[in-house]
Amino acid sequence: MTAKKIVLLILDGISDRPCPALNGQTPLQAADTPNLDRIAKQGICGIMDTIAPGIRPGSDTAHLSLLGYPPHEYYTGRGPLEAEGTGIHMEHGMIGVRANYATIGPDGLISDRRAGRIHDTAKLSRAIEEGVDLSAFHVTCTFRSGAGHRAALALKGDGLGSAVTSNDPKSTGLAPPLIEPLTGSPGDSQTSSVLNEFVRQSSEILADHHINRERKREGLLPANIVLLRGAGQMGHFEPFSTRYGMQGSVISAAALITGIGRVVGLTPVQVPGITGSVTTNLSGKVTAICRELKSQEFVLANIKGSDEAGHDGDPIQKRDFISRIDTAIAPLLALEGTLLVVCGDHSTPCSIRDHSADPVPLAILGDGVRIDRVAHFNEIACAEGGLTRISGGSLMPILTDLVDRAHKYGA
Ligand code: ZN
Ligand code: ZN
Repeated sequence: MTAKKIVLLILDGISDRPCPALNGQTPLQAADTPNLDRIAKQGICGIMDTIAPGIRPGSDTAHLSLLGYPPHEYYTGRGPLEAEGTGIHMEHGMIGVRANYATIGPDGLISDRRAGRIHDTAKLSRAIEEGVDLSAFHVTCTFRSGAGHRAALALKGDGLGSAVTSNDPKSTGLAPPLIEPLTGSPGDSQTSSVLNEFVRQSSEILADHHINRERKREGLLPANIVLLRGAGQMGHFEPFSTRYGMQGSVISAAALITGIGRVVGLTPVQVPGITGSVTTNLSGKVTAICRELKSQEFVLANIKGSDEAGHDGDPIQKRDFISRIDTAIAPLLALEGTLLVVCGDHSTPCSIRDHSADPVPLAILGDGVRIDRVAHFNEIACAEGGLTRISGGSLMPILTDLVDRAHKYGA
């Protein structure tokens, strides 16, 4: 028997270093994980440098690498990926920019970089998209809301560059600086002028918007300025279906990961109640994976909460969330004709509260895999597995071989 379908379950930032609060164990070692251990025991395991040994991955570059799109070739910044994640269709050459709704006081200083943690900003974003006119620059813009106070801007026009600064002063009590070109190229200078004009016009629209007047009446902070950062030019991505001969879906609460899925042609799936944090609707995500497999051959699913707990430096919360992931994924172990692949995208050690280059654990369960002697899914046990230590760029070739879709090299 050969498996035909693939579930790639990425447990974001799951791996860690020994934690004093857990008697020297990692949160993954300390968690109660009978289902993950069964995947390890009945499957093949290894550890993985998602980009390369010693390289600290971002979630974006790690996911690109795991999907077989080397980030040094394909990564042009977070902006275009976030823009795709909000639902904007980014064409080759368009400029994508991350955006935040924020609050600026009458003194011209930023008083809150998240506009009082505003959410449901779709009406504000529509007003901006419809009201801002960049035709003097021969540029059109699309502006969409993301989660919470986040949004994304896309610019379409000839000759635009992406090497520009941000107007986010990064802390409160400061005035937003003008956006400036980082090089002497005319394209970068054009983009910085376009973005400054976008900020000027959108501020006028926001100042007078009834949602902000209502917020002020209710004692809430108005969302009266847009802060822009992370500009990048959309590249060209060969579709996943062309590259691997499989149609697929992406399930993630993070716009960045959904955007990465979308740029390679995976279909985004909405799941109610997913938050990208430890409060997420885990069982809803697992149900969605099982449902997608009825029509798709490949499902990429990302669970983010373990990364968040690592950034918060909270090994107990991380351990407990991993135990909850384990309970929720039980239905995936019963899938037939499917490779179940579980790994991290990078380590997020609680001791450093950020991503590290420590390799991540990897386990593959399904028909045809050579079962090794590893019986536990964690950073230490998986290092003794049959896959040994691989790089993230090898993952899709290994998986396409296991589902019998790899092309033979030579005669
Ligand atoms: Zn990540
Ligand atoms: Zn992270």
